[in-house]
Amino acid sequence: MNKEYHTIIIGAGVAGMTAALYLKRAGINVLLIEKEAPGGQVIKTAKIENYPGIIEIEGPELAMKMYKQLTNLEVPFLFDEVQSVEKHESEINVITSQEKLTCHNLIIATGRTPRKLGIENEEKLTGKGISWCAICDGPLYRNKDVAVIGGGRAAVEEAIYLSKLCNKVTLIHRKDNFRAENTLVEELKSHDNIEVITPDTVVEFIPKEGKLDKLVLESGRQLSVDGCFEFIGQVPMTEIFRPLGIVNPITHYIDVDQNLRTVIPNIYACGDCLDKELYQIVTACSEGAIVADHILKEDN
Ligand SMILES: Cc1cc2nc3c(=O)[nH]c(=O)nc-3n(C[C@H](O)[C@H](O)[C@H](O)COP(=O)(O)OP(=O)(O)OC[C@H]3O[C@@H](n4cnc5c(N)ncnc54)[C@H](O)[C@@H]3O)c2cc1C
Repeated sequence: MNKEYHTIIIGAGVAGMTAALYLKRAGINVLLIEKEAPGGQVIKTAKIENYPGIIEIEGPELAMKMYKQLTNLEVPFLFDEVQSVEKHESEINVITSQEKLTCHNLIIATGRTPRKLGIENEEKLTGKGISWCAICDGPLYRNKDVAVIGGGRAAVEEAIYLSKLCNKVTLIHRKDNFRAENTLVEELKSHDNIEVITPDTVVEFIPKEGKLDKLVLESGRQLSVDGCFEFIGQVPMTEIFRPLGIVNPITHYIDVDQNLRTVIPNIYACGDCLDKELYQIVTACSEGAIVADHILKEDN
């Protein structure tokens, strides 16, 4: 027989974990399914300074605190990848790589994954010089020269983080202005070992003996680097929900109403898998709480 839950949450990022917190505290039989580790993007974030009440915290520490809060409440976690979802008249089936589960409500909190440049040798050099996570791979480049590609808040934050580990950081951005707070941009500019190249972009990765050796820029300039970190945006992880008809065909985000309901009854979504203005921890947590509250109200 399929295991049955009142509510299943797919994705244990901060949005999914917040929804689980609110539901479990209200006595709901909830299951969280996660294909990697609890925390999602937060585990890949070096330093967080804009979560209210916490002056400064490393991403993995915040993720672990949230995870511990849930395990203290005995929220069950299933570490597995959801492969598909089927909606039937009175129940929803969630099919993972190992099992088939049943629930009354489903919360999609699958977040986003880094966008790739899609240029020559990128795939081949993944893990051999090219990375999307400074906190995971930064220590591999201690005292070495690295490049960061991107001009948003994440690129600026991670370039600053890397400048404390690496010999030199070259930040390459296709525009002249950054999409980050002035305080961050000022901090970026205050580091002597950060060089900013704008407007320019990387058009080719050149390997040597199986590892990244050089970047070729659109301007024709070549840079010798040991590592290159890409922060050029994110894409939603929503592909598996396409057959349900709830994924926007243009944006690829999950379409929801103001109560975070999809067009399918009992299927909700929250966090970075939604099309919204601000992709932050505080907004993802807020949406997790709103979805949970809505489910609790629907039940009463
Ligand atoms: C480098 C970087 C720095 C950032 N810095 C900050 C900052 O300083 N302050 C701030 O507020 N925000 C910051 N953000 C943004 C913030 O981290 C995100 O907005 C927030 O964490 C999103 O949470 P989420 O739960 O919606 O999604 P995610 O964190 O993306 O979590 C989604 C989870 O779902 C899982 N999942 C996906 N598909 C499946 C599946 N099929 N089966 C099972 N599990 C699945 C994923 O593995 C993942 O763990 C940063 C982001 C990045 C990338």
